[in-house]
Amino acid sequence: METPESTARPIRTAVLLAIGSELTVGETRDTNSGDLARPLSEAGVDVAWISALPDRLGTVTAALRDALAAADVVVTTGGLGPTPDDLTREAIADLCGEVPAVDPELERWLRHLFERRGLAFARTNLKQAWLIPSASAIPNERGTAPGWWVDRPEGRVIVALPGPPSEMRPMWQGWVMPRLRERGLGQDRVTRTYRLAGIGESAVAALLGERLLRTENPVVATYARSDAVDVRISAVAEVGRSAAALVDEAAAVVLTAIGEH
Ligand code: ATP
Repeated sequence: METPESTARPIRTAVLLAIGSELTVGETRDTNSGDLARPLSEAGVDVAWISALPDRLGTVTAALRDALAAADVVVTTGGLGPTPDDLTREAIADLCGEVPAVDPELERWLRHLFERRGLAFARTNLKQAWLIPSASAIPNERGTAPGWWVDRPEGRVIVALPGPPSEMRPMWQGWVMPRLRERGLGQDRVTRTYRLAGIGESAVAALLGERLLRTENPVVATYARSDAVDVRISAVAEVGRSAAALVDEAAAVVLTAIGEH
């Protein structure tokens, strides 16, 4: 399903939800979220938070609701299998107020896949052919769980991917990222770094002061190097103020405090 041009929204912020009780009991480590957070951050998308959630419908639905209130895209991994405890689809459907139904095209694909593998097709598998009206299927060439791309009002997007990294990664790289890029990914960030000599990081931090170091935009941060301390100023544009202007303003304050170093 294509989002009408007028509601398409650039993707500036993301929340990542890793779903599966094996994560919350400590049996499996969540590597999927890191694999998603890296390319998103590199593309200038701010990952607001990452959560691991048990296979509990109310918990997942509530987490999706919170995430959607904060982010342009919410990406889930896991919980797309055929069993009743795989409930990512139910949670998304609940949140959207839509009822899942078997999609005939996905059912054909799924039955064909089982046939090719010489496996009997149990009715429970039909769950993997479900769609809701606002979801499109994301093809999975390595498994039986297609993903969901769900268009929400105001151009927000929910992306649901299967848990196994070998399935999740190619779907993310080959299908999801290109579509997110079409929406416009991330913000242009302007960055300036001052390298200081003859002063330690804690002294630099004291001179800059807590208030400046806690500001969210522009971000002023100190980095201890082996033989120097870097002060990095970076900003994204705000309404009426360019990123460069915000960096200039912060730089003036920084130079007053530490310019002699
Ligand atoms: P399937 O169709 O394989 O059941 P699924 O979407 O239901 O897909 P899960 O059952 O949640 O996926 O997880 C399947 C396997 O994928 C897990 O046993 C684990 O090995 C791996 N996995 C799941 N989530 C993660 C994660 N966040 N990080 C790394 N590996 C994961």
